[in-house]
Amino acid sequence: MNLILLGAPGAGKGTQAEILCERLNIPTISTGNMIREAMKSGTEMGLKAKEYAENGKLVPDEVVIGIVDERLRQDDCKNGFILDGFPRTIPQAEALDRMGITIDRVVDINVPDEVITRRVSGRRACLDCGSTYHIETKKPNVEGICDRCGSTLVQRKDDLPETVLERLHVYHAQTEPLRDYYAAAGKLLVVDGQQGIQEIAEQTLELLKG
Ligand code: ADP
Ligand code: ADP
Ligand code: ZN
Repeated sequence: MNLILLGAPGAGKGTQAEILCERLNIPTISTGNMIREAMKSGTEMGLKAKEYAENGKLVPDEVVIGIVDERLRQDDCKNGFILDGFPRTIPQAEALDRMGITIDRVVDINVPDEVITRRVSGRRACLDCGSTYHIETKKPNVEGICDRCGSTLVQRKDDLPETVLERLHVYHAQTEPLRDYYAAAGKLLVVDGQQGIQEIAEQTLELLKG
């Protein structure tokens, strides 16, 4: 199953990807995580992306399309994959079509803007393994420490309030049109993202069976 998770920043794409990846036994490809890893290790792509990502802007299409194309060619994607955070623009979706990849389903996690600000302001991230937590709704077992890998959790720079507003603006202008794009292709499934984390996962798995 080739799956795309769509939704505003902070809608819960990464959280759902973690669950679905285990339940469906296919890898998650998170462009946000890949970009943050590149920024951290200071690669050429990371340096290029930093200005954009830290200011809540999208990294240029050609850069992101390049990294996704390369990643999808790897062997572990042969039986399916979950795209988290890609595509984010119509040109990115068109590039995916041109790669000759068939997308089976697109799950839109629907969350209103007011809820988004609360989710993102409480988000804590592990920059080593990509897991995300929340100070109220998804606490780690030990405060400030990643359950999965033991690294220290941080608040992402782009999760500070001004940058979140910019990211929401970018989302409405550039990413939301993808809903119509995939609805027109008969691939869109919408889930109510205001439910609990497990409820959303169960509802998604149920919809994917249909
Ligand atoms: P995205 O990948 O879409 O940006 P995340 O999966 O990182 O979103 O979720 C954003 C924040 O909200 C995280 O702190 C996460 O722990 C929390 N979160 C995710 N899903 C829910 C939910 N259904 N209810 C409450 N909090 C959630
Ligand atoms: P969130 O789900 O909270 O919006 P991500 O971790 O997916 O955050 O992305 C963080 C940042 O990485 C984005 O604001 C953007 O700068 C960059 N980025 C991630 N994916 C893409 C993409 N497909 N196209 C362009 N920029 C991207
Ligand atoms: Zn971790």
